[in-house]
Amino acid sequence: MAKTLFEKIIAKELPAQFVYEDAECVVIKDINPGAPVHLLVIPRKVIPMLSEATDADRSLLGHLMMVAGKVAADAGFGAALRVATNNGAEAGQSVFHLHLHVLAGRPLKWPPG
Ligand code: AMP
Repeated sequence: MAKTLFEKIIAKELPAQFVYEDAECVVIKDINPGAPVHLLVIPRKVIPMLSEATDADRSLLGHLMMVAGKVAADAGFGAALRVATNNGAEAGQSVFHLHLHVLAGRPLKWPPG
């Protein structure tokens, strides 16, 4: 299987701005930010999208959410942030390696476009 874009970033084969790393995930700045803070929480394990996660991923998924809250708080937006994942091309997913978008730093309307 060809490496995903995010696997290459995690392996430091492609450049990215890392803001956090641990044994299970990394957090980078989105290259095309949709908000003053736009981070991507990416598991080291390749799960193509949320709908392909299994019970074995339960703990990892919880960890990703906890890290999302932490990096938003570290950026100064612990109380006003959005965490989202796009699942499938029709929902706007472009990189098929599960990731959480963390957005903050501007008014976040609901529903998004
Ligand atoms: P999605 O469309 O939900 O799959 O999200 C993929 C995100 O990855 C988009 O918001 C892109 O802007 C972002 N992205 C694509 N390439 C890079 C890159 N090289 N470094 C950082 N973010 C990227």
